[in-house]
Amino acid sequence: MTDRPGKIVCVGRNYREHARELGNAVPTEPLLFLKPPSSIIRSGEAIVSPALTSRLEHEGEIGVVIGMSIRRATEAQALAAVRGIVALNDVTARDLQKSDPQWTRGKGFDTFCPIGPEWVGVPDFERLEVVCRVNGVIRQQGTGGEMVFSVPVLLAYISRVMTLEPGDIVATGTPAGVGPLIPGDVVEVEVVGCSIVSNPVVAES
Ligand code: ZN
Repeated sequence: MTDRPGKIVCVGRNYREHARELGNAVPTEPLLFLKPPSSIIRSGEAIVSPALTSRLEHEGEIGVVIGMSIRRATEAQALAAVRGIVALNDVTARDLQKSDPQWTRGKGFDTFCPIGPEWVGVPDFERLEVVCRVNGVIRQQGTGGEMVFSVPVLLAYISRVMTLEPGDIVATGTPAGVGPLIPGDVVEVEVVGCSIVSNPVVAES
């Protein structure tokens, strides 16, 4: 990927075990939120833990990159509009996410969206696997087949709300195992066979 996407559309609670680990019900329709494009960093750049939070967490996710403009798409049209895949870390200030009635602050700080290099193609989403490691230890692991709402369902659903445009990224939710990040950690998200993003965590200076 070269340019900054117009938007990053994220899906909350799209893996049952993750919804449960945070004490939430499994949603009956996709739960959408946005991360600002200004939160993007690349592999090797530092995630800055804001002074405002006392609970920074990782969320390893499969990021879907859109290649064609779609609006009110069918699932087949939505799948045909996929350009590629990125490893994505939906970094979250969990305490601020919980204290605010919506998630813009908790999810939107600068450096809160590390993304890996784009793998171009349309994978078998059901078998696609995401792994998140902190300091080399696996914290999260999940496949597309475990999602509450599959990638084609998500893209079609989002396209009924807003036009998805080339370069937009859809973050498809995180498996169970979210946990803390502290300065000095190195966090890595890998979409196996496609993309990997690795970032050190530093304190805000
Ligand atoms: Zn997430």
